[in-house]
Amino acid sequence: MRALPAVERVVRVSEEYRVLGRHKDDDRPSHFEYQGLRFGQDTLHVFAGLCAVDSRANVERMMRAISEHGQVCTRMGAYKPRTSPYSFQGHGGTCLPYVFELAGKYGIKVVAMEVTHESHIDEIEAALEGAGCPTGIMLQIGTRNTQNFELLKIVGRQREFPVLLKRGFGITLSESLNAAEYLASEGNTKVVFGLRGVKSNMGDPHRNVVDFAHVPVVRRLTRMPVCVDPSHAVGDRSSGPEGILDVMHATAQGVIAGANMVLVDFHPDPPAALVDGPQALLLSELPRFLDDIQIVREAFEKRVALKEYAQVTQQS
Ligand code: PEP
Ligand code: MN
Repeated sequence: MRALPAVERVVRVSEEYRVLGRHKDDDRPSHFEYQGLRFGQDTLHVFAGLCAVDSRANVERMMRAISEHGQVCTRMGAYKPRTSPYSFQGHGGTCLPYVFELAGKYGIKVVAMEVTHESHIDEIEAALEGAGCPTGIMLQIGTRNTQNFELLKIVGRQREFPVLLKRGFGITLSESLNAAEYLASEGNTKVVFGLRGVKSNMGDPHRNVVDFAHVPVVRRLTRMPVCVDPSHAVGDRSSGPEGILDVMHATAQGVIAGANMVLVDFHPDPPAALVDGPQALLLSELPRFLDDIQIVREAFEKRVALKEYAQVTQQS
């Protein structure tokens, strides 16, 4: 292929996952910046927070705990896709003003928030502006909407907010990676890919079959940072005989494999939570959870260094 005068280099893009894929001789970045934070295959951010916003008081308790432990990201659900139409559907746009105001008060830079309809993006934009843009938003596409192609195109057309795309719980990994590509093909390349388990009773007693062995696969096939969601994967507060929660074990499995983001449910009073209380961790468990992640992240870095050391000694 002959390069045109103004063309420095040509990258063949006929491969799968054209925009987000990691191709041969491809030195396109595997990170993006948002709100002064770097989200990349070389960073790790914890988004601990409420599965669903229920009250201003609980949002404030949650955010205070996060900021007291040096965290600047959280998850807060306002629009909840529920299996039953009679279950709590989230407070929607009405809670956004206080969620954003409190995020500003506690120095939260990015709030992960699911959207299920394009009108939700407009509501989020308007509420952010109304609050004076005190925080940033990572739009979440949930597992039930992974192949809602029209929603993906709409979310992909806006470039203001990065997107966390959860893998579909009943489709192949490749199908979910193509869904991420829908976002990028419309222009938004600030995409984080989220593993959250896949549906099968073969995973019992966990809510889903934990799929965090796919962390290196997604990092290899694409340039997206990879998120793990241990809460929706495990689905309850059981623990091993040593007293470590399965949710913490699953988190560790993702982080030791190189995960770049952890999305995890906490609640000040899990039995009173309106959504997913059984899997929520207690605020008092936050420091231990963060320390555990630190141990495992360091272990991942040591594993990488060990591999580099092995390569050097093999060459010499
Ligand atoms: C959530 O994160 O609250 C959620 C509904 O996740 P998922 O789409 O993975 O079920
Ligand atoms: Mn949930």
